[in-house]
Amino acid sequence: MSPAPAQITLGQWDERYAALRAEGLREPSYGGPLSRHLADGDRRLSCLRFDNSPAALRLWNFLLSEEDRLFAARREGKTIIGTMKDLGTVPIMAYALEDTVAFYPDGAWWQPCVMELSDGLLARADAMGIDESFCPVRAMLGAFETGEHFPAPDLLTCSVGATCDDFSAIAQRLSATGFPILWWEIPPRRPCDPGEAAIRLPGGRRVSRSQVAFVTGQMQHLAWAIGQTCGKRLRRRHLAQSIHQANRVRGLLGELREEAYRAAAAPLGAMEMLVAEMLAIHYCSDRDETVAVLEDLLAEVRRRVAAGTGVLEAAAARVYWVNPVADLRAMNLLEECGGRVCGTDYMFGHALARIPTNVPPLEALARMALADPMVGPAGQRAEDICADMAAAGAEAAVISRIPGASHCATEGAVIAEEIRGRLALPVVEIEVPPVIDAVMASLKTRLSALVERVKERRER
Ligand code: SF4
Repeated sequence: MSPAPAQITLGQWDERYAALRAEGLREPSYGGPLSRHLADGDRRLSCLRFDNSPAALRLWNFLLSEEDRLFAARREGKTIIGTMKDLGTVPIMAYALEDTVAFYPDGAWWQPCVMELSDGLLARADAMGIDESFCPVRAMLGAFETGEHFPAPDLLTCSVGATCDDFSAIAQRLSATGFPILWWEIPPRRPCDPGEAAIRLPGGRRVSRSQVAFVTGQMQHLAWAIGQTCGKRLRRRHLAQSIHQANRVRGLLGELREEAYRAAAAPLGAMEMLVAEMLAIHYCSDRDETVAVLEDLLAEVRRRVAAGTGVLEAAAARVYWVNPVADLRAMNLLEECGGRVCGTDYMFGHALARIPTNVPPLEALARMALADPMVGPAGQRAEDICADMAAAGAEAAVISRIPGASHCATEGAVIAEEIRGRLALPVVEIEVPPVIDAVMASLKTRLSALVERVKERRER
């Protein structure tokens, strides 16, 4: 008989894995016990509590095997495109061509946490003059220098324009160290002038037709460069098919978010949901497998919802979480304090929205890029968060600041004020460093206080 849904330690997963294998568990090529990743230096895993389902096992193994997949792609002669900053748009072009893989070098920001700073990536960035006054994305400088976490890409792209100061400085430093970058421009999303022709973006915002035309031109250049790098022509039908596949991933994630965040008792923990949401950005370097991983998770969540079971109490405070965390332990911590995540804005909402299929593919991608919450005013992001919180029945919000991040300097205050003003709900702003151990006690106090306020409000 299957055990009830629960969150278990890495050691408990070893026992569970042995039992599943004895029962005949079938796994993909990257399968195996979770604890084997400790040997790769992923020490943080021993501090986390994981979902006990085979679907979650597959999710974690998929995530933690991405480096192996990228190096295997290099050995197999595939073309590797490193896409920086845009979160979700350029990889769709890369995956339109066979034997091409895209990844985000920015994802290296997660390495110092999962390896509990033993990788030395932040120290290398320090030595290159990019110190802790910059956000943890600076870890990618060290990753490029060591070449240990991903192979050098055949083409490296990066968006500029409506880009934070940190990323601009870090990418310029990278370029100066000998990694050529294809820069492309995403302008700040601005309100339409009176009488200016407008286009509605995925998510509902309106933008001027001229801005869409400009970004479509940038997409054309990117498509040409990717084709050149691969030695193939990136045709419209390839792009249309790739958009179709991207919408498949986004559709699955939409259903998963709907089921998991709306359920009375959370059927899946916040940590696994965060990892699942991140798959939408670049598919963890394997789009087909992303679909399979999400299908498994969705089936598990549906089973649990139908059975009325979950991993947390139904009474848990419904918390909306803003911004991703490098240390996933923070998501466990909220749940230990009596909260559960009921909605999120991890800064890439545009990567979850359905891509239009009734316009030419490059224009569709341009619209997506302009729908990025981070290329518009913070006030618009705050309004969208409030609307999402209201729809999700959120009772409170956590705004998670990223240390050194220029985008967090004032944006958190803007979002918090909007939530208090519009929804009159409690909000807490916290800062989550790459490893939270030193601030665990204070984080716990603040998250517990937030949950207590929710419970008090329920009793009024
Ligand atoms: S400052 Fe914010 S938006 Fe910029 S790279 Fe860091 S986390 Fe991303």
